[in-house]
Amino acid sequence: MSKSKLLKGIPVSAGIAIGPVLLYSYDMKHLQAYFVPFVDIDKEVQRFKNAVEKSKQQLKDIKKMVEAEKVGDRDVAIFDTHILVLEDPMVIDETIRRICTEQKNAEYIFYDVIDKLAHSLERVKDEHIRTRWIDLYDVAHRVITNLKETYHNLLEGLKQEVIVVAYDLGPSDTAHMINGKVAAFATDRGGPTSHTAIMAKALEIPAVVGLDNVSILSTNADKIIVDGITGVVIINPTEQEIKEYEARRREFEKKKSLLLKLKDLPAQTLDGYSIELAANVELPEEVHHINIYGADGIGLYRTEFLYLDRDSLPSEERQFEVYKKAVLSVAPKPVVFRTVDLGGDKFASAIPVPQELNPFLGVRAIRLCLEYPDIFRTQLRALLRASALGDVSVMFPMVSDLSEIRKAKDIIQEVKEELRQEGKEFNPECKIGIMIEVPSAVMTADILAREVDFFSIGTNDLIQYTLAVDRINEKVAHLYQPLHPSVIRMIKMTIESAHRAGIWISLCGEMAANPIIAVILMGMGIDKLSMAAVNIPEVKRIIRKITFKQAQQLAEAILQQEDINAIKNLVETQLSELENKL
Ligand code: PEP
Ligand code: MG
Repeated sequence: MSKSKLLKGIPVSAGIAIGPVLLYSYDMKHLQAYFVPFVDIDKEVQRFKNAVEKSKQQLKDIKKMVEAEKVGDRDVAIFDTHILVLEDPMVIDETIRRICTEQKNAEYIFYDVIDKLAHSLERVKDEHIRTRWIDLYDVAHRVITNLKETYHNLLEGLKQEVIVVAYDLGPSDTAHMINGKVAAFATDRGGPTSHTAIMAKALEIPAVVGLDNVSILSTNADKIIVDGITGVVIINPTEQEIKEYEARRREFEKKKSLLLKLKDLPAQTLDGYSIELAANVELPEEVHHINIYGADGIGLYRTEFLYLDRDSLPSEERQFEVYKKAVLSVAPKPVVFRTVDLGGDKFASAIPVPQELNPFLGVRAIRLCLEYPDIFRTQLRALLRASALGDVSVMFPMVSDLSEIRKAKDIIQEVKEELRQEGKEFNPECKIGIMIEVPSAVMTADILAREVDFFSIGTNDLIQYTLAVDRINEKVAHLYQPLHPSVIRMIKMTIESAHRAGIWISLCGEMAANPIIAVILMGMGIDKLSMAAVNIPEVKRIIRKITFKQAQQLAEAILQQEDINAIKNLVETQLSELENKL
């Protein structure tokens, strides 16, 4: 038996699990090779050919769309280059030859062929040709995505509980974990507020990310401990370590069930000040958590899951059914639906967005919706129809400019008119809000507030855009500071702008789930906090231990600090004082 290895990463979803490793690959560079028996080789080759054909068709469709937009010949030529790669015998015939001789899966061989070709370009003198490696990887990404739909998904049909270990996981991979057989996961990559991390919390799967090399150090024969509370991961633990972590797990479960006793009590301070604690929802399966954890409705319903991991766009009817179910199951409590926030680290194969070098600064969220108004309209129609059934609000993500709100509101007006003419019911007073998650929105919050009914601060993004720290990159995770003075000031400014304009304001980034930060935000005057439902009881417990006056004083003291370490010290002292109180 090999020696026990302890690694430390970023804990993103609380809980402890101990179990056998299942190595799972998502990233192109770390695709898993698996053996294809001789009798299945023809099928494997056909699978590859289908993916290539599908990719070519997609490229032709995108080319047509781009041509229609009249963006210029250079951009259109890129798609021709990609199609040529998919017709090149050095790529296609070579992949087929190797699938047959090496008896390995298509995605693994295809990536290897592309990778070798890309490396051979490094030696070419012509600068123009040398930089074509980007196109090769772009094509590889498309074909592999298309192959993935028929990929032998390791997470399907699992018979026993496993702990998934991967280089990285996309949000749609995490969504496959809903089968209940994944007890935890651990990844090399990933930052504290990546969408994979958010999804882990939603599914209540303990998770640690940013471990650097856990997928290299583990094998399928290993046992592993994942501690999503402290970020510790132990490969091949000793008997002693297993005993210790089993005891910790029991302790965690006990605390969790005790906290559930607070479910029906209000989030109210000792001096009677109340704040709304709502839930963030990533998947429809989670809606029942609202009642389990005693949430005051849904403060952020992310709608991306409808678009991920599928070939076609969700129809209005499908969306309406999903929204209706959520509204009816939490009624009379409110639901804030966010219009689709694709881009960044969430991509939908059915939307032909070209790959971008900086996707978080690219065609994302409201920008994407305004660029593809038909997709936006379909969603708005479904949402407005759902508004007839309960307390529904609609919120736009990543607004960075007034014109975006105006354009989006114009589309809403047109959609309302359409529905009216068709005799379809909707709430004409349905409230419209925006997420404040870009510094430009903070700085113009007073102007934006005049246009909408509410704000919700999305600190996951606001922190990354303010501090210039990628939220999914573990290498800069230590710089991702929710309590950085600049972030705290931005939040304060936004709250003041909202209140001056007479609108309510919530905060729905991950920092709302940290109990002491929640207290500070309450002291700063936030009206509502929205977080993973599982975190609500703990936040409520701390809020019920403090007076509003104390929370205001703490917020004031934090705002006076000049440096992040002083802020952290203050926060820690305050938390331990509160914990010591009965
Ligand atoms: C945020 O940015 O804080 C937010 C809630 O949105 P998302 O995490 O989906 O980007
Ligand atoms: Mg965001």
